[in-house]
Order: sequence, then C-alpha cells, then structure tokens
Amino acid sequence: MARIVVVGAGVGGLATAARLAATGHQVTVFEAADTVGGKLGRYVHDTPAGSFHFDTGPSLLTLPEVFHDLFEATGAKLDEYLDLAPLDPIVRHVFPGDGPALDSCADPAEFATRIGAAFGDRAAADWQRLWRRAARVWNASSRDILRRTVDSPRDLASLAWHVGDLAAIAPGRTLRGLGRRYLSDPRLRMLLDRYATYTGADPRRAPAALVAVPYAELTFGGWYLRGGLGTLADALLTRCLDLGVVVQTGAAVTRIDAAGGRVHGVRLAGVAAPVPADVVVANVDALTVYRDLLPHPRRLAGLTDRSLAGFVLLLGVSGSTGLAHHNVFFPRDHDAEFDAVFGDPGLGVRARPAADPTVFVTVADDPMVRPAGHEAWFVLVNAARQGTATGAVDWRRPGLADAYADRILDVLAQRGVDVRDRLLFREVRTPADLDAATGAPGGSIYGTAGGLLRPANRGPAHGLWLVGGSSHPGGGLPMVTLSAQIVADEIGPAW
Ligand SMILES: Cc1cc2nc3c(=O)[nH]c(=O)nc-3n(C[C@H](O)[C@H](O)[C@H](O)COP(=O)(O)OP(=O)(O)OC[C@H]3O[C@@H](n4cnc5c(N)ncnc54)[C@H](O)[C@@H]3O)c2cc1C
Repeated sequence: MARIVVVGAGVGGLATAARLAATGHQVTVFEAADTVGGKLGRYVHDTPAGSFHFDTGPSLLTLPEVFHDLFEATGAKLDEYLDLAPLDPIVRHVFPGDGPALDSCADPAEFATRIGAAFGDRAAADWQRLWRRAARVWNASSRDILRRTVDSPRDLASLAWHVGDLAAIAPGRTLRGLGRRYLSDPRLRMLLDRYATYTGADPRRAPAALVAVPYAELTFGGWYLRGGLGTLADALLTRCLDLGVVVQTGAAVTRIDAAGGRVHGVRLAGVAAPVPADVVVANVDALTVYRDLLPHPRRLAGLTDRSLAGFVLLLGVSGSTGLAHHNVFFPRDHDAEFDAVFGDPGLGVRARPAADPTVFVTVADDPMVRPAGHEAWFVLVNAARQGTATGAVDWRRPGLADAYADRILDVLAQRGVDVRDRLLFREVRTPADLDAATGAPGGSIYGTAGGLLRPANRGPAHGLWLVGGSSHPGGGLPMVTLSAQIVADEIGPAW
C-alpha cells in the first residue's frame, strides 16, 4: 500500500483517487478551493421567483462508457449515482443568413439524412465520406493513444499504427485542411472547424486527427445529467469518501517535495510540517507543476501553445424561448473570430474580444435547475486567455467584461434571439475568473492547445504523475477520466 497524495479535486483528481483507493492505496486529496469539481463548477442564484442552478463549465457529456468503466472499477454502478439523459438534438447549429438550422444526433445515418434535407444530397455525401475517414482516425487513436501513456515524440512515432491509420490521421494536415478537402458546403466546414475549439485550438493549426472528436460525439452520443453536469462532481466525491479517501478542501499545495530523483511529499499553504507521500498525483495544470510546484522550475517543451479560454454569461431568463438544449449560433466570418481570439504573436497582432463570435447557448429543460416559467441560460463564447501578452486579453480592465457581455447579448439579438428585456439577472465569468477559481493559468480551458502530444502523465521525478486536462490524453470530461485510468493503471494496485 502506498501513501498517495492527489493535488487538486478536479474530475481527473477525484477519478484517480477513487480508482487508487479501490485498489487498496491510502489516498488523500488536497484541494485549494472550498469545493470539489474544479472547472466542473456550479453557481446558484436565488431570486423571488426561485433558484437558478448553473453549470459554469461543462454542459455536454460524451463517451459515457468511460464513466461507466470508472464507476465499475471502483465497485459501483454509475446509474445509482447519476441520471443520464441522451440529447437529440445534441446541438442545434444556426448558420448566418436565413437558411435552415441543422440538428446533430448520435445516429450517423440519420444525421446524413438531416444534412441532405437541410443542405442537399452533395453535402450529405461529402459528410459520409468524411465520416468513413473519421472512423479510421477514431479507431486508431482510441486503440493507441487514449488508453496508454505517450511520453515523447518517439513514443508517438513508435505506435503500432498501420499504414492506413497513418494515412487517415495525416500528421501534417490541419482540421481546416481536412474540411476543405472533404466538404463542399461552407456550413459543414464551419461545423467541423468548431470541434478544434473542444481542445482549445485554432482549426487552421489543429491537427486533422481532431476529426475523432465529432466522431465520438456523433457516434456514441451527447448526454445531459439531470440536476446539472455538476452532479458528476458530487458522485465522484461520494465515491471517494465511500472508499476511504480523505478529501481536504481549502488546502492549497505550495510545493511538491522531490529530491534524489523521486517525490517525498507535498507542502501545504499555512502548514509548517510537510505531508509525506510515496506517490504524488498532480491534477493541477502541467504548467503550474513544472513552473511553480517543483523545487526547481523546469521548462516543458510545447507548453507555450496555450489553449483558448471562454467568456461565460449566466442568465436568468423569464418565459420560454423554445431553444434546443444546446444551440450554436455561427458568425459570418469564422476566421475573423479566430484571428481575434488567438491574435498573431509572431506578427505582433494582439488578441482581442471577438466582435462577432460564435455563441454557444445551453438551456436545460430541467425543472431541477430553474423556477417554473423561467430558463437558466449558460452562454459561452471563445475568448483569449487572461494576460497582458500579445496572445492574451486583460479581462480585468475596468468595464471590459460588462461591455463585452452587452455585445454578446446584442449579437444574439441580431441572430434572432433577443432576451435583453427578459433578464432577471446576468452574471459574467471571464477567463480571469476561471484562473482565480481553479488555478488554470490565464483561464486556458485545456492547458496546451490541440496537438496529439501533450505533457506526459509520467512526471519528471519518480513517483510523480500528472492527470487531467492539461496532460495526456487531453481536456474534456471523458479525456481527463481516461487520464485517471492511465495513471491509476501505471501506479498499479496496492497488492
Ligand atoms: C466553460 C467551460 C466549458 C466546458 N465545456 C465542456 C463540455 O461541455 N464537455 C466536456 O467534456 N468538457 C468541457 N469543459 C472542459 C472540462 O471542464 C475540463 O477538461 C475538466 O473538467 C478538467 O478536469 P481536470 O481533472 O483537468 O481538473 P480541473 O477542473 O482543472 O481541476 C483542477 C483542480 O485543482 C485545484 N488546484 C489548483 N491548484 C492547486 C493547488 N496548488 N493545490 C491544491 N489544489 C489545486 C483547482 O482548484 C481545481 O479544483 C469545459 C470547461 C470550461 C471551463
């Protein structure tokens, strides 16, 4: 039995803790915030009409098998803890102009039929051709990348990929390039491009292999958790406590003790005595681990390309708008949005709030999250991370967040959904707020952006492991849960 300290109670940290405790280890989780869940955050707003419950982070759960596996590995059944509701449409896509919207679903044949009905037979045939390729990419990456450690470019190169896998993955091609090659309809290209942002990347630079992301969503489905996605954090915490994990909130780790090539424990803010440990699992951003928590700061190649962040509005809306659960309102000029959000540090072009961004609106038709006769809206737009460098925006600048919130509501009104006169309240969450709440540097949602090679799960000292969205295999709830599986498997059982 090893004494294991997990730093951070995000989904990756809690999932690792539960798996390790289930295999006999003595596990303690230290979480800096007062609550668990990390980016899977929640906010409750009370009004005379009743309470509004918001997820402030994830709104879509994909790859539910990954979560079933997690609960099973810890001796429980997911359905006893969580109430999964499949979504159809998964997302309603609204394009510029007066054309039809497109509803995605988890049945590829049905989705092709919907594309055909909305955009014509050629568009449907294009999508099916792309889909065959996406299936090959998904099969290769889920087999070789998502369930094992990938520590270095050499590891990646030495994977047992067949020639056909490599051709499908096309290491040198971008997601944008793939869309151009397969899709003639600009609306489908836009739809595909958006999936780059699921890993925090610009589709013009993100690898074509990210076509596996829509493949997973539109093959295995998109899900809501009744009561809100935050119920996943509750379930993981309960599972941990039932398995004997000690979870201490309000406990910030200030240092990981490592000497002689191995970890020895951690130091907590305001506590003089070190906490000894045989193994430390860091669920904080890899950049923070390497730069701030290790005794000697280290550089980690590839950590310069940070993921985008998000600008969030939480709205209490009176009446019913008839929106789908997830709605994406696309802009006229997608590239102008990416130019704004990422800037071009090489050319000295500053990042800025996009004037006409893609707007993502989630409205759960769930009586548990809003008073009768009202809607709780989660509105998300892509945003540059917090900072003063060329590729960032200083969201703390007085007046900026409020002015941008006004702008987003105006943009929505221009796209046919005007709730400006129906707001009971509005709350704003900037990238700076996410940084302050979860320690995500600059509020970057996914750590590094988009490549196949991310910071390795194996840390630079023996007994140190990295888990979560900024490390392999990447961000998003299923990926961080897979990273927990990889790390727990590598550490192995206590017996
Ligand atoms: C706006 C938004 C929308 C999203 N939408 C989706 C979605 O629809 N679907 C999806 O699958 N994913 C989505 N994601 C991504 C998803 O939320 C993350 O990938 C995932 O929750 C990250 O989990 P993690 O394990 O990396 O830990 P994190 O959530 O990053 O948690 C890390 C934890 O470590 C703690 N911590 C930091 N420093 C210290 C320290 N020094 N000592 C102790 N504790 C510390 C933090 O407080 C935090 O609790 C979204 C994220 C955001 C922000």
